[in-house]
Amino acid sequence: MQRLGELQELRLIFTNAETQSGAGDVRYAVLGSIGEVSSGGREVVLALHSCQTLESLVEDLHAPPTTSFPPSPDFIGTCLGISLPLSSTTSTEHTDAQPQGHACNGLVTRVYQILREVGPALVRLASGTGEGERVRITVVGHSVAGSLAAMVTLCLRIAFSSLFSLSLTAPTLRCFSFSPSACLDASTADALRPCVTTIVLHDDLVPRLTPQSTRRLLREIALFRETVFRQRQQNWSAVLSRWSSVSPSLSPSQPLLLEDRERGRTREGDDETAVMVEDAELTPLWLPGKILHIYSHRGQWLVAEVSRTLSTLRRIEVQGNMLDDHRGGSLLHALLEARAVRRAPVAPPMWEAFTTSERDGDSSVREKDNERCTCCKESFSWHATYRGDVKDYRERYNCHHCGLLVCGLCSTNQRTIPKYGMIFPRRICDQCELKGDYAALC
Ligand SMILES: [Zn+2]
Ligand SMILES: [Zn+2]
Repeated sequence: MQRLGELQELRLIFTNAETQSGAGDVRYAVLGSIGEVSSGGREVVLALHSCQTLESLVEDLHAPPTTSFPPSPDFIGTCLGISLPLSSTTSTEHTDAQPQGHACNGLVTRVYQILREVGPALVRLASGTGEGERVRITVVGHSVAGSLAAMVTLCLRIAFSSLFSLSLTAPTLRCFSFSPSACLDASTADALRPCVTTIVLHDDLVPRLTPQSTRRLLREIALFRETVFRQRQQNWSAVLSRWSSVSPSLSPSQPLLLEDRERGRTREGDDETAVMVEDAELTPLWLPGKILHIYSHRGQWLVAEVSRTLSTLRRIEVQGNMLDDHRGGSLLHALLEARAVRRAPVAPPMWEAFTTSERDGDSSVREKDNERCTCCKESFSWHATYRGDVKDYRERYNCHHCGLLVCGLCSTNQRTIPKYGMIFPRRICDQCELKGDYAALC
């Protein structure tokens, strides 16, 4: 932590990283700027790190939301060990910034723990500076700690607006919440837009993990299971009726018996009384502050500000990278590359589509697979394997340099492509590898 801090000209002030042992405890570190930050003041960083596992996160999310968050200024003052002055200015501000909202119940007690343990020191660091010097307080966290960071920021904002309402040296407060879970009601989440930035990478599961999205996923799985079961039954019926017509000696009761036996076998172990999907009304929770979504386009990482109601952030779609996109390392790589892409001199070419639309003689449009690898000209399809022309099943990939479709065997090389801002290795085809122009700077 000290080494990481010093890379950004920050010095560790104190931490509880060595003393924590409980799975639900939050580790934290408070760091301070060594020199002056560019804005002309000092910077204090509160870095949160939760030891929470994915299982305990799911447990927390299933807890009913509390109806009393953010708490009253009096309660926040008690946590911080100070009494907050109430002026007409601050009370007006509170009605805007502090609606009677709700938050993820599992996280609220941890927010109060952080306020009690770190809050008094932050208040002292924020107020004990030289004449005319401003302090910037930055709260950061990843995953569950990202949600905690946003909620702690909200409480500090309420406290600071009371403490420093008339002071020109009032500290500025900001928060970067990386891959957090949805944790606040809509109006509280909106009120945090000026000071909280939430960053979500691509298909990351955790920001999409709400009671509603989990319920929806369970419904989809249940429907899929029922569909598979129904289709299996229909296939059985078709086979048995065909069998009856071929062999008239088989009595009508026997197929039914077989079908019932099959039904009993496949549904063995089912509990008829179990309710898989509850129908109780659920209070919606939302991602906090301003939301930046990092998404992939032609192999590049791009960043866009999105609405918290964006449908793709509100439902879970099972993707192979949904857990990998939650890792801190993946997020760091994507952010570094998104910055390099913004400075890149050249845009990547259009990617060849997996299918193309063709117009038939009767003017109807049909989809046609792009069947052959650009490099080796072999077919991608299973039919080729069946005929023995190709020994391996050839998956389709786009070369990140030329954008053309190639098979796996013709794209085993991974290279950085500086002119597109791709600073981490990407799959390129053998033709591009041989030409070598992927390494050009522009
Ligand atoms: Zn090939
Ligand atoms: Zn290529």
